[in-house]
Amino acid sequence: MDLNRRDVLIAGLAATAADVAGGTAAAIEGASALQPGLPDLPLLDGRLHLDDRTRAAAADDFGHVVRRMPRGVLRPRTYEDVVSAVRWAAERGRKIAPRGQGHSVYGRAQVAEGIVIEMTPFRTIHDVRSGQAIVGAGATWSDVVAATLPLGRVPPTLTDYLGLSVGGTLAVGGIGSMTSRHGMQSDNVLELDVITGTGEMVTCSPDSHATLFHAVRAGLGQVAVIVRATLKLVPAPLQVRRYLLFYPDLKTMLADQRVLAADERFDAVQGAVLPAPVGWTFRLDAVKQFSDKPPDDTDLLSGLSDDRSRTKPGTLTYIDYLHRLATLEQALRANGQWFHPHPWLTTFVGDAQVEAVVSAELAALTPADLGPYGQIALSAFRRQMVTSPLVRLPADDLCYAFNLIRIPASVETAEADRLVRANRSVYERIRAAGGTLYPVSAFPMSRDDWRRHFGPAWGFLIDAKQEFDPGHVLAPGYETF
Ligand SMILES: Cc1cc2nc3c(=O)[nH]c(=O)nc-3n(C[C@H](O)[C@H](O)[C@H](O)COP(=O)(O)OP(=O)(O)OC[C@H]3O[C@@H](n4cnc5c(N)ncnc54)[C@H](O)[C@@H]3O)c2cc1C
Repeated sequence: MDLNRRDVLIAGLAATAADVAGGTAAAIEGASALQPGLPDLPLLDGRLHLDDRTRAAAADDFGHVVRRMPRGVLRPRTYEDVVSAVRWAAERGRKIAPRGQGHSVYGRAQVAEGIVIEMTPFRTIHDVRSGQAIVGAGATWSDVVAATLPLGRVPPTLTDYLGLSVGGTLAVGGIGSMTSRHGMQSDNVLELDVITGTGEMVTCSPDSHATLFHAVRAGLGQVAVIVRATLKLVPAPLQVRRYLLFYPDLKTMLADQRVLAADERFDAVQGAVLPAPVGWTFRLDAVKQFSDKPPDDTDLLSGLSDDRSRTKPGTLTYIDYLHRLATLEQALRANGQWFHPHPWLTTFVGDAQVEAVVSAELAALTPADLGPYGQIALSAFRRQMVTSPLVRLPADDLCYAFNLIRIPASVETAEADRLVRANRSVYERIRAAGGTLYPVSAFPMSRDDWRRHFGPAWGFLIDAKQEFDPGHVLAPGYETF
C-alpha cells in the first residue's frame, strides 16, 4: 500500500471506520501493512510506501547479510518532504535512514521500525558548467559523467563502480583510481544542500556553515541528509592508454607502486592481487590519459620491474575506462553471484606495514574466503591529497586501500557469517598495525570501535551530532551513536 498526502487522510479515515464497525485495519484491502503511528506523518507530496514488498526491499542491500525491516519507505517528491519526515521523526524519537543505491554491504542504509527515505527521486542533473555540476544526491556517478563528458568535463575522482549514488559515496568519502592525484570525492565537492537531523535545510560549503560541511563529508550520514551537491569538474581526456603490469611477487609490485606514486608518470594506478591456480597473481592497472597523441609506451614503462613479456598496452575511450567494471558486473549478474552475499572489507594500510600485513593475510586466505570471482584490491595513494577531516587514514605519507572483495560461491548464511567474523579479525590485525577502516565494510562496529576509529576526530563528530542531530534521528545503520 502506498500513501501520499491524500491517501494518508483516506487511510486514516478507513481505519477509523473499520474500527468503528468492529473490524480491524487488517480487514481493509492491503492494510495489513498499515503501521501504527505512521499515518500521523505530516502530509507529503511524495509517497509513503507501507506495503511488505517495498519495505522488504529496503530491508536488504548489496551485502545481503543484514536485514532490518523499516515501518515505511518514503519516496519524496520535494526537499520539503524530507524536511517534514525528519522533523516528524525528531519529534517522536523515530529513526530515518537515507538510501541511495543500496550498495551498502552491512545494513548501513537500513533502519528497523523507522523510515527509509529513498534518494532516487533526487536522481537529477540540475546544471553543468565548465567548472562545476549541480546534481541531486540520488544521481549516480554514471548519471553525472553522462552529463559532464559531452562538455569535456569530469569530476576529478570517480569511484571504480559508477552505479553508486552521489550522496551515498559523499557520506563515506568515495575512493577511486584518481585518488592519488585528486583525493576522494568528498574532497572535491564545492557546496552541499543538506537537511539536518533537526529538519533544517542548509546550504553549506567551506565558506558557509563550514562545520556542517566538514561533518557531512565522510560523516556516515550522521548529521544531515544530503539532497543536492555542487561537484567540482576538471577537463576530461578523450582516451586513455592502459597497461596491465604483472609482477612475480608482492614485494616487486609494491616497489613499483612506490615509484609510480612518487613520479606520477601515470594518471591512475591501481593494484590487485588475484587468485591464481597456484598462489596469487600480482597486477598493476596503470593508465595515462591523452586526447591527441598517445603516450610513448617505452618511455612510460622505463625502469619498472614488471614481467614485460605479459604487458599488452591498449587504448580505450575515456568513457569505456570509467565503465571498466561493467563487464565484471554483467558476468556476475549472468551467473547469479551479483545477488550473493557480499561480506566485503576495505581498510587502509600504511606503507611501512603494508608488505608485512598483506603477506600475512595472503598466507591465511583460502580460495573459499574470496570465491572464484573475488579479488583483492591493493592501491597506493598519497595521504596528503585526502583532506576531508572525517576520513581516517594511517599516518604514513603513502597509504594503500586494501580491499577484500569477497564473492562467496555459496549463498549460505553460515558462510557469509563466517566471512563477517573473518573481517572482524582482519580489521583487528590491521588496526593493531596502524591501519584504519573504510567504513563501507561488512562487520559490526561497536560505539567504542567507532570512537577508536575516529580518534582525534571523534570529539568533532560528537559535537556535530549534538548540534545538528541531537535526537539521533539519522542513519542509525552505522550504529555510531
Ligand atoms: C559494487 C560496489 C562497488 C563499490 N565501489 C566503490 C568504489 O569504487 N569506491 C568507493 O569509495 N566505494 C565503493 N563502494 C562502496 C560504496 O561507496 C558505499 O557502499 C556507498 O555508501 C554506497 O553508495 P549507495 O548510493 O549505494 O549508498 P547506500 O548503500 O544507499 O547508503 C550507504 C550509507 O550512506 C547513507 N546515505 C545514502 N544517501 C545519503 C544521502 N543522500 N545523504 C546522507 N547519507 C546518505 C545511507 O544512510 C547509508 O548509511 C562500492 C560498493 C559496491 C557494492
